[in-house]
Amino acid sequence: MTKTLNIALAGNPNAGKTTMFNALTGARQSVGNYPGVTVEKREGYLQADGYRLNIVDLPGTYSLTAYSQEELVARDYLVNERPQLVIDIVDANSLERNLYLAVQFMELGVPLVLALNMMDEVRKSGKKIDTARLSQLLGTPVVETVARSGEGKHQLIESALERIHGDDSRWKPLEISYGPDIDPVLQEMTDLIRGAEFLTDSYPPRWLALKYLEGDVQIRSMGARAGDIGEALERMARRVTEHCKVTLDTIPEAIIADYRYGYIASVTKQGVLVQRGHQERIIFTDKIDRILTHRFIGPLLMVGVLYGMFMVTFTFGTVPMEWLEAFFAWLADVVTRLTPPGLLQSMLVDGVIAGVGGVLGFVPLIMVMFLGIAFLEDSGYMARMAYMMDRVLRIFGLHGCSVMPFIVAGGIPGGCAVPGVMGARTLRSPKEKLATLLTAPFMPCGAKVPVFLLLGGAFFKGSAATVLFWITIGSWMTALVVAWVLRNTIIRGEATPFVMELPPYRLPTLKGLCIHTWERAWQYAKKAGTVILAISIIIWSFMTFPSLPEATLQDFARQRTAVQSALPAKPDPAAAAAAGRELLRIDGLEAEAALKHSFAGRLGSALESVTLLAGFDWRTNIALLGGFAAKEVIVSTLGTAYAMSDVGEASQGSLSNRLRQDPAWSRLTALSVIIFVMLYAPCFVTVVAMARESSWGWALFSMTYTTLMAFGLSIAVYQVGQYIFPS
Ligand code: GDP
Ligand code: MG
Repeated sequence: MTKTLNIALAGNPNAGKTTMFNALTGARQSVGNYPGVTVEKREGYLQADGYRLNIVDLPGTYSLTAYSQEELVARDYLVNERPQLVIDIVDANSLERNLYLAVQFMELGVPLVLALNMMDEVRKSGKKIDTARLSQLLGTPVVETVARSGEGKHQLIESALERIHGDDSRWKPLEISYGPDIDPVLQEMTDLIRGAEFLTDSYPPRWLALKYLEGDVQIRSMGARAGDIGEALERMARRVTEHCKVTLDTIPEAIIADYRYGYIASVTKQGVLVQRGHQERIIFTDKIDRILTHRFIGPLLMVGVLYGMFMVTFTFGTVPMEWLEAFFAWLADVVTRLTPPGLLQSMLVDGVIAGVGGVLGFVPLIMVMFLGIAFLEDSGYMARMAYMMDRVLRIFGLHGCSVMPFIVAGGIPGGCAVPGVMGARTLRSPKEKLATLLTAPFMPCGAKVPVFLLLGGAFFKGSAATVLFWITIGSWMTALVVAWVLRNTIIRGEATPFVMELPPYRLPTLKGLCIHTWERAWQYAKKAGTVILAISIIIWSFMTFPSLPEATLQDFARQRTAVQSALPAKPDPAAAAAAGRELLRIDGLEAEAALKHSFAGRLGSALESVTLLAGFDWRTNIALLGGFAAKEVIVSTLGTAYAMSDVGEASQGSLSNRLRQDPAWSRLTALSVIIFVMLYAPCFVTVVAMARESSWGWALFSMTYTTLMAFGLSIAVYQVGQYIFPS
């Protein structure tokens, strides 16, 4: 049996962890969540030397104090799961800053191997690092790597295995001196903790004492639950804090950070940083940034980039989309021919293939878009967009980091609110996160777009792109205004400063782009295979049952027989064509009667008394109700509902023709429906995602307020419109 070893990859954000993770594990990886929190957990494995190495990509952090969820998750993982080793990915371009985290791992005592990553850039910049010396001074293996090309990855694994099997594979905490103000009380607290055995199973005593002085929320609340010991520690921490305030006008936390940096400086100055280099890349990045984040040119360029991405998505995404549509049409055809007419056929063709096909049809579009987003992210530009948008979003109570969730949700039309809502995880402040995920679903997601294209094409002149453009602007404005209202009423609270680090510009790797794109597209496709499949069948059955009573069916059958028997015995093409049309008309009438008789039809009709205020008839109601299950359903349900009630010639036409010819529809109706679809409740899957990211209370709140707002606005537009343009 092969032995399993657990290794965690850790490091500052943008140090190259994920790239190294991909290089090490290739496709052998899976993405999940850390229990109870919404931080992504990426796991993979590789075989080496007869061992199975399980690798976990920890969230990127700058420290191990519980300042953020990422830091907590990383630390809890280390303490609770006790991996055999941590590989700390260090961006060697800024060695000192990155070593800050390394020192904290050493203080925790976990066996460590340092990967000095980005060595290609370091070499190019002329900087020289004496790796052997660094290793000697820190007492930790150090390996030079270039994660992008995989350079050094074998050596990294070798060093890791060596370290695990070496003499000192136990956890051994490093003890740094924190100076005359901190050290004595630190010692006192350490003794106290050791004596009381407070959490000493999991953490080194001195480390716990340090966390008290750093004001660590998690450790302190554990102390509060432990009773006396917690109180004693609190008292001591308070004493030092006061002492530092009086004598040095600072807080212990700052002193601790200073000493840690001092420790690092003492290491790097002892012949580690042989040559400082001329920092070419930083200068290059600064030069580009002078233009790309310029006060006026920057935002203009950003709009250009977004528009370009939008164009690329639609240009390259629609072609394979048509192939997929053709494929599903073919599949429906085959299934129709292979199965006997009846319920099963209807369920497979109208329910399963139409529903799931409708969703999968968007996969190519989504892949192209995610590829673009992955490029913006990996190149470092996305961070600049967040930085520039922060100035605007701040006005509305949002944060620069809200821009990503908005864009992913459809800020550039074609996204999906589900990953958008999940993307709100990057926001640190719970209130800004909540405001973001409550408003991101206003964006025109890929499933709403077909509705806009259909109605825009049928009722409004001008190109589809123009219609979509204005809808997009409207959606953004709504999202921002609603966010502002929410942040000034029920989610009031401080704005947090924008502290996201702007990483240097880099050309993304193809491998990284592919993995990012694939992960997201797969998440989306999985949704089609599971949730949408179930929903499609449910909707189909609501539109099918109960079926028409026997007497009515027989009545339609009699009408058909009458038409057929009225045909003259002699072949007459004109008469046959007329009879064919008549038969189609009867089919249509029957289908309409059946739909109206079904649960969905009854519900739609029952709602009419209210919804007619906004101009929605019973068929539109069915489509909009279906759209709550998944917005993809709106167009397909409209298609079914209107295909069913068609008369004669018009049945040859497209859905948009049919709508135009239907007396129940007008420009005003179309506008009212567009507004409603823009704003009403997010689809079911999004609501579930929202509940997971916040709570069911907020998710239900979101459903209610959006629908009420949408309906109110639709009624207003429809009523005012009718008053101004009476037909
Ligand atoms: P993470 O935030 O630590 O997961 O960092 P990523 O793995 O996402 O890497 C951040 C960026 O650095 C990406 O654009 C990578 O392509 C790039 N990168 C990673 N490793 C290297 C390296 O060794 N050399 C260079 N030049 N770029 C790298
Ligand atoms: Mg990463």
